[in-house]
Amino acid sequence: MKRLSLLVESFIVHHRRRLIWLHAFMFLVFLAVIGGPLLLPDPPGDATPLTNLRLAANYALWGIWFPFVLLSVIFTGRAWCGLLCPMGAASEWANRVGPQRAIPRWLSWEGTPLVSFIFITTLGQTVGVRDHPEAAAEIFGGTMLMAVLIGFLFGRRKRAWCRHMCPIGRVLGLYSRLGAVQFEPAVHLPGGDARTERGICPTMIDLPRKTESRHCIACFRCVNPQARGGIAMTLRRPGAEIEGIRDHHANPAEVWFLFLDTGLALGGFLWLVLPVFQTVRQALGEWAIDHRWSWLTEPGPAWLMSEHPARAEVFLWLDFVMIVGFMVVCMVAMTVMLAVLTAAASTLARRAGAHGGFRRCFTELGYQYAPVALMSLIIGLGAELFEMIRVTALGPAGVSAVKGGLFLIGLVWSIWLGERILTRQGVPFARRWVPLLPGLIGSVATGLAWWPAIFGI
Ligand code: SF4
Ligand code: SF4
Repeated sequence: MKRLSLLVESFIVHHRRRLIWLHAFMFLVFLAVIGGPLLLPDPPGDATPLTNLRLAANYALWGIWFPFVLLSVIFTGRAWCGLLCPMGAASEWANRVGPQRAIPRWLSWEGTPLVSFIFITTLGQTVGVRDHPEAAAEIFGGTMLMAVLIGFLFGRRKRAWCRHMCPIGRVLGLYSRLGAVQFEPAVHLPGGDARTERGICPTMIDLPRKTESRHCIACFRCVNPQARGGIAMTLRRPGAEIEGIRDHHANPAEVWFLFLDTGLALGGFLWLVLPVFQTVRQALGEWAIDHRWSWLTEPGPAWLMSEHPARAEVFLWLDFVMIVGFMVVCMVAMTVMLAVLTAAASTLARRAGAHGGFRRCFTELGYQYAPVALMSLIIGLGAELFEMIRVTALGPAGVSAVKGGLFLIGLVWSIWLGERILTRQGVPFARRWVPLLPGLIGSVATGLAWWPAIFGI
């Protein structure tokens, strides 16, 4: 492990100056995948990603990029952010030529990335980001423009966008706590994690006090193998940071984000497959006609909802209200369920001998749902990737086996993490199963909630 990490570290440090070319290349790939399909005609009905460039670009985005970036955090932390992402790099380039104003408080507020995530995820659903290249251009192009604008305006040689506002970065940051890669100071200063705009770190980590991976984009800028007492890249067992979350700056806001994000993403998949969605939509439509709410049955603006008559898809305000409402209901329901179960686990853990107050135990135990949420997200988003297995010798059984395997890994990993967190809290072995039960129920329920979206109904 040590030898491997030294090899990777010295290779990247040696080529650090050339990363700019990699970023420029990725920027061109971004333009090709997002902008290219706008110039191409609609594919014929029998086209596949292998025979049609537009479908190939769509597949590259949803079948390859999304699932692999999410999966990569387990093995490489946020290496996507630090080494490859054209959006973060563009934001930083813009910062060099901008006025470098002080980062405002609304931007550094803990809730800003959550608002950004909710906004972009729901808008993505209402405009049909997975199906229409115009919608993908709006969502990803708009996000790129915001990254450049925020980078241009705020921070001094920093990535204010990446730390405070990027909707993808926040998700990757949370799950990078499960990752095998960490950047660790040789000597820790006491006092816990802190944010500082001084220093070399683009995401404003106070390096000698760093104990968490969340904001670290694995850019290697702080790594200097020649300097003693500096930061080094090390490898660890995936999940180790959450197992010992008590020593890694457990953050209540992050746990609430985990609950809310999981529910919102789930809603984004379920509205497409659950018959109850269509039943309620029908009832609401009839009610709107009976009560002369005619605006609800009219189409809305194309930037807000899918309006593609040539592709036989025209969303009405009714669809917009239903999709947003359904996703919000899923988000609230999942959050309430996980919060109640985590509160029960925390109470039981303290009765069984856990050290620390309710709030502290609650926050730590909340992290146990990270693996099951991540795996469900990967399987849900990677549907197109797994479909490729169908055309191999493994066939449909292979698709189910891979999905089921990942699903099971997420479930077992969450339960394992719950047990480890309780151990670190000081709950004796013989009494640990009691506070573990609510976590077990929560993990199974989270997995089952994703079931229709992943395996069908
Ligand atoms: S935080 Fe967002 S914009 Fe920044 S590097 Fe990561 S994915 Fe890209
Ligand atoms: S801690 Fe080091 S590797 Fe991580 S973001 Fe900061 S400078 Fe980059």
